Amino acid sequence: MPTAADTRLALERDYRARTRRSAALHDEARRYFPGGVTRSVTYHAPYPLSIADGCGCRLRDVDGNPYRDLLINFGAMIHGHAHPAIVSAIRDQLGRGTDYGAPTESHLQLAREIMRRVASVERLRFTTSGTEAVLYAVRAARAFTRRSKILKMEGSYHGGYDSVSVSVDPGANAPEAPRGVVASAGLPPEVATNTLVAPFNDLNAVERILHAHRADLAAVIVEPVTVRGMIPADGEFLRALRELTRQLDVLLIVDEVVTFRLSEGGAQKRFGVTPDLTTFGKIIGGGLPVGAFGGRADIMSGFDPSHVPAVHHSGTFAGNNAVMAAGLAALSLLNADAFDHLDMLGERLRHGLRAAARSAGFEAHVTGMGSLAALHLSAGPVRCYRDAVRTDRETMRWLHLALLNRGIFARAGGSFFLSTPMQTADVDETIVAVEGALKDVRPIYDSTRNG
Ligand code: PMP
Repeated sequence: MPTAADTRLALERDYRARTRRSAALHDEARRYFPGGVTRSVTYHAPYPLSIADGCGCRLRDVDGNPYRDLLINFGAMIHGHAHPAIVSAIRDQLGRGTDYGAPTESHLQLAREIMRRVASVERLRFTTSGTEAVLYAVRAARAFTRRSKILKMEGSYHGGYDSVSVSVDPGANAPEAPRGVVASAGLPPEVATNTLVAPFNDLNAVERILHAHRADLAAVIVEPVTVRGMIPADGEFLRALRELTRQLDVLLIVDEVVTFRLSEGGAQKRFGVTPDLTTFGKIIGGGLPVGAFGGRADIMSGFDPSHVPAVHHSGTFAGNNAVMAAGLAALSLLNADAFDHLDMLGERLRHGLRAAARSAGFEAHVTGMGSLAALHLSAGPVRCYRDAVRTDRETMRWLHLALLNRGIFARAGGSFFLSTPMQTADVDETIVAVEGALKDVRPIYDSTRNG
């Protein structure tokens, strides 16, 4: 059996040998971008792949290596890359101009399609990212309630907005709720005063915090499935949270930036929860930059510019017509059959990941829902951030490299996003690759447990 050090060397040597042009481009990129990337999450050691093109659920890197794509830009490309209907919709709009600084009928078409699916959205606004959608939803809640504090779940990521950048990945020794820690240098400490933190899926804790802080709380923001670790909320937890917030007159914001991919009506339909406000992003833009927020008409009416003083929302590219066209094409393809297909693939992948871990001799736990799945290298169950943080991150890091070497492009943390062009054979071959990669990293896994 090779040692952990030999295994690391061999994995990195293989990676470097296969990806020489990516390495050269990264060297140059470091002269332009801090760390050589324009988006921190795309960095990993020793350097990230540079991708040349994509088609369906496949990618090719600049060295010509093919990959099955189970990252699909962090879930955004639900129809994979270059879907002909989406390409054609974008092309058609490009020939007519993309943005005029004025309302267009394409705004209505995408809004109509979202509101047809999500009954809780009575009015909405488009943005250019999920981050902005969250920013404006929180602003709407604060303006409506005239309160400043919000409550988020420990370990949840809601984008780069200061107010939600608290206790995103605070580590195993995070402070006791409701105290949080700011998630980045450059954030004023007051942020953590106005943003309280609760353990996910812990109704008693949330109830205590809500009762103690109700007078100052504008809203609770929650992901139905946490994207970090793909941990589904207990249905009971979400439904009780809805009831409790309603009783205490605190608004509920459901962040569906990722989970809108879970059913035609998003996760809220799947869980049977009606929020006051919802945030969207990713799949509603068909692969172009997008976000949206919406909800109760009385809350959203604050943005009506004919009211004085209105709550401010704008953005040069909000409602960009190429984005609207791509989003409408993407949502039109997402019918009940597409969701059945994604759910079937997801079940198969989660089942296969469990079997692969068992067969490779790992203590592992698999989470997820619908087209989302994650492998945790720890004994289960994984119901909240503090469970997920026990995963063996060192082995995970090398598992990621081993998967890339085996042609699987996936997120570094062991999570997977499925897309409609995938077939059962793609899932089965992914599972074979995961089992092989787990066996590759076995000496590292053993050393982290023994040492
Ligand atoms: N909310 C959630 C749940 C997210 O996962 C993300 C990003 N992945 C965001 C908000 C922010 O979206 P964006 O990256 O488009 O700003």
